Amino acid sequence: MSDESQELGITESKSHKPGEWYAEVVQKAGIADYAPMGGFIVTKPRGYALWERLQDELDGRFKATGVDNVYFPMFIPESFLEREKDIVEGFDPEVAWVTHGGHDELEERLAVRPTSESIIAPFMADWTRSHRDLPLRLNQWCSVVRWEATETKPFFRTKEFMWQEGHTAHASDEGAWNEVWTRLGQYEELYEDVLAIPVLRGKKPEHDKFPGADTTTTVEALMPDGKSVQGGTSHHLGQSFAKAFDITFVDDDEDEQTAYTTSWGLSWRALGALIMTHSDDQGLVLPPTVAPTQAVIVPIWQEDTKEKVLEYSEEIAAELEDAGVRVELDDRDERNPGFKFNEHELNGVPLRLEIGPNEVDDGEVTLVHRPDNENVVADRSGLVESVEANLETVYDKLYAAAEETLEDNVREADSPEEIMGTIGKHGGYVRVPWCGDQACEEAIKEKVSAEIVMQPLAEEGGATTGVPEAPDDDDAECAVCGEPADEIAYFAKSY
Ligand SMILES: [Zn+2]
Repeated sequence: MSDESQELGITESKSHKPGEWYAEVVQKAGIADYAPMGGFIVTKPRGYALWERLQDELDGRFKATGVDNVYFPMFIPESFLEREKDIVEGFDPEVAWVTHGGHDELEERLAVRPTSESIIAPFMADWTRSHRDLPLRLNQWCSVVRWEATETKPFFRTKEFMWQEGHTAHASDEGAWNEVWTRLGQYEELYEDVLAIPVLRGKKPEHDKFPGADTTTTVEALMPDGKSVQGGTSHHLGQSFAKAFDITFVDDDEDEQTAYTTSWGLSWRALGALIMTHSDDQGLVLPPTVAPTQAVIVPIWQEDTKEKVLEYSEEIAAELEDAGVRVELDDRDERNPGFKFNEHELNGVPLRLEIGPNEVDDGEVTLVHRPDNENVVADRSGLVESVEANLETVYDKLYAAAEETLEDNVREADSPEEIMGTIGKHGGYVRVPWCGDQACEEAIKEKVSAEIVMQPLAEEGGATTGVPEAPDDDDAECAVCGEPADEIAYFAKSY
């Protein structure tokens, strides 16, 4: 290997130093870089292309289910923020403030939005007159700022992060619940059908819900280092925001009613989960669904075979492109095939097409899967179908591996020692009966910094409810304090 290709490679190991390995993959694969200010990152072209694919997927689903996009200012007057007291208390330690405009001190401080309920809700109140205006479903793609991160970890811990935040108002509690489940279901689909990451869905414990919310529901993804990632949250806000901001409407009988509201958000943390889940010691691994380049053609020639190899490769590139495959022909003269293999592996291209003089003579193409280097020889005729089938196989391999990790890492425990021992030894989730008292979570959190990340939800008549699943055993005891337990909780370390 040349010096240059060594520089290209990943030097840290995913299993031994996951934190360092992650930082190296993100930088070397052209995803993101660190900004000059601590807690901020620069998203590079390959990283932003991934974010755009993810946006397209979610945005399409939102629009197909009645959501309109809007954009509100990034600043929120202090007096607006104070109208819903839980929001103020919940976000107070992490709000960045603007106090000056140019040289003049502002009469009223402006918060840089940590979330936008407080500026969107007053307008939702204006726009809601009668029951015919409901449901009102708004979404914005933007960044928010929470001044909390001390150590920067791209996409997981940054002071400013990109996300979408949806805000809706409904005439009934039932309408709001339906909204909560629709959005949670779309987040689950994004992870499972686009990012190849299986998730667990449930609710946050009462003490950990969104400020002002009645119920916070979540999808959680397990990372290979045994920690859980909160993948997206969908909140039933009850009537607290509607009351604070006067979101009322006139019903069928001409009576004034207070609306029910929801909010739901998914951030670029999903990119962090994507990179962390699938990538390996050679670099980035991406599912074909989101990969900016799905297939790369690497021609392998000598001087006397160059012409025919290139001609054959160009034909194939054009054919794949016509079929809608995101394909790149890497015909750079100054790089040898080995260098190109390494570079495209590092950048996470899911499928490599190797074409040498033998392939041309035999009317074949060698396909190589990024995740495991499996080789498949495909016929030149029917190549588009082969490439599409192999891209699907790559997706299935990634999903299956992530699913196995999840299935192997949900364990049970019936004492605090066993909870802590299991988390210390294996990481992952520990499923226990819980009495519902926050003190029982604190006892575990203090010792092993694991918390209740999720409570699975009970089903009733085939539909999910907002109520936690109960233990199978009617006499179940809380795994921490031994008191009667009627809820199930999942402990895990988390990002
Ligand atoms: Zn307890």
